[in-house]
Amino acid sequence: MNIFSKLTPYIIAGPCGIEDENQLMSITNSLQTMPVDMIRGGVWKPRSKPGHFEGRGEAALGWIRHAKTTTDKPFCIEVANRQQVELALNYEIDAMWIGARTTVNPFMVQEIADALKGSNVAVLIKNPINPDIELWSGAVERLQQAGIESIAAIHRGFSSYDANAIYRNKPNWAIPIELKRRYKDLPVFCDVSHICGNRTLLSSVAQRALDLDFDGLMIETHPTPDEALSDARQQITPLQLQELLSGLVIRQVSCDTVQDEIEQIRQVLDTMDAEVVDLIGKRMELVQQLGQIKIDNNIAIFQQDRWREIIESRTQWGEKNKLDAAFILKLFELIHDKSIKTQFELLNTLKQDKI
Ligand code: PEP
Ligand code: MN
Repeated sequence: MNIFSKLTPYIIAGPCGIEDENQLMSITNSLQTMPVDMIRGGVWKPRSKPGHFEGRGEAALGWIRHAKTTTDKPFCIEVANRQQVELALNYEIDAMWIGARTTVNPFMVQEIADALKGSNVAVLIKNPINPDIELWSGAVERLQQAGIESIAAIHRGFSSYDANAIYRNKPNWAIPIELKRRYKDLPVFCDVSHICGNRTLLSSVAQRALDLDFDGLMIETHPTPDEALSDARQQITPLQLQELLSGLVIRQVSCDTVQDEIEQIRQVLDTMDAEVVDLIGKRMELVQQLGQIKIDNNIAIFQQDRWREIIESRTQWGEKNKLDAAFILKLFELIHDKSIKTQFELLNTLKQDKI
């Protein structure tokens, strides 16, 4: 049984890094009475630059062992190599997460998977720092092949070189959604703290994740966030976590009383989409005819003026239908691009025939 599969969102909270035993005891006590399913805490911290807090290592594992005598909640830590996995197993840590900087490296993921073979710890796999779904799915598959039963993925956003970005790590929601489509039984959580990088955005991103049907949230929580030795700006107190969680609207996948109405609307949408696809198909047939005339009469296939006219008229039609200009532009770029490609393909086949 996958321990991460749960009907209500699975909540993981705890500090970015375990700093000392008092901090860990304090946070464990506070989270004990809250709707939190698992406590997190970094023991080895991957830091971009040297000279920053890198975690307390094995000492912190001892503090976790002690904290576990005061709570029934499981603990999770980050591991990045075989040696860390073996130490964590010795200290009977319940769950381990593979960090974004490790998921990028298939050698390291395989080393971790091999070290975990035969154990029954739960594993959480963060997305790689770059938006590469294959690396992320590859890591999921390496852990599945190692026989790990409880696996979940964590979406923590993707690095970008943009000094004015709102988020610390760009969400690129389509990627975790595609991962979920590929592995329908894989719980996918959202690490809102590392996406946001600051406290103010946390609740809106958490709500967005739930609205997108994520199965859980990871939220960094610290007794005194401003004094945290790492990620101070994004951590919140247990009280703030309580407020955040109680403000979330948990939406359901379906609801009996309105299911019929939803079904009816979906049927109409299906019919409309079928019409849209038919129309685009017919449009492309006309484009073929047009292409033939252009080729026979030596007329340029792409014409800037015609493209401008298309955008202007379609934007106006869009406005009348409350469709914004950016959407219309994207839609007709796609359609027009296909038309131009179709005409060039025709030109190439005719050339081939002549040869
Ligand atoms: C963390 O969770 O503290 C962490 C280092 O995360 P990530 O691997 O997502 O950067
Ligand atoms: Mn952190």
